[in-house]
Amino acid sequence: MDLKSAIRNVQDFPKKGIGFKDITTLLKDPRAFDEAVKAMSDRFLSERIDTVVGIESRGFIFGGAVAVALDAGFVPARKPGKLPSVTLKETYDLEYGTDAVEIHKDAIEKGSRVLVVDDLLATGGTAAAVIRLVRRTGGTLVGAAFLIELDFLGGRKKLEGVPIHVLIHFRDE
Ligand code: AMP
Repeated sequence: MDLKSAIRNVQDFPKKGIGFKDITTLLKDPRAFDEAVKAMSDRFLSERIDTVVGIESRGFIFGGAVAVALDAGFVPARKPGKLPSVTLKETYDLEYGTDAVEIHKDAIEKGSRVLVVDDLLATGGTAAAVIRLVRRTGGTLVGAAFLIELDFLGGRKKLEGVPIHVLIHFRDE
């Protein structure tokens, strides 16, 4: 099935000039959602993943399902101030200003084999920060899986050396 056609582009959301990739149209279609989760997981079935780290918030939807498919645990990487126990924090640059992401310090066992999951790879800043968090916990990063990549933003460059698995590419704006 053509998963790309299940993604809705919403022009000028949340601000002018952005083509927002709306995944809710894929999620509400049970066949498309199932196929997306299977295709994101299959590539890592033989990698003995212990922990899937999902990035807030749409990465929780795919990350949770991928974790179950891989028989792995799930760990949320969240925006600052949301996780209740002791956290590690990484900041990253945005077009204007900075943002940050946190993980529970004790969420990943040393040497655990970790897969990072999010819905979309854009500039790569968010995923790169989450990967730094995984490494600080002592986890072994095995790869990163995204439903969508916006190729024209070049986010892959920030994830150098990380095996990346993407289902849907948008080559230009
Ligand atoms: P980035 O750090 O630039 O790679 O941004 C990735 C995060 O921002 C992901 O969690 C996406 O959900 C979200 N995001 C960035 N750009 C878009 C877009 N055009 N459509 C939908 N989500 C986006």
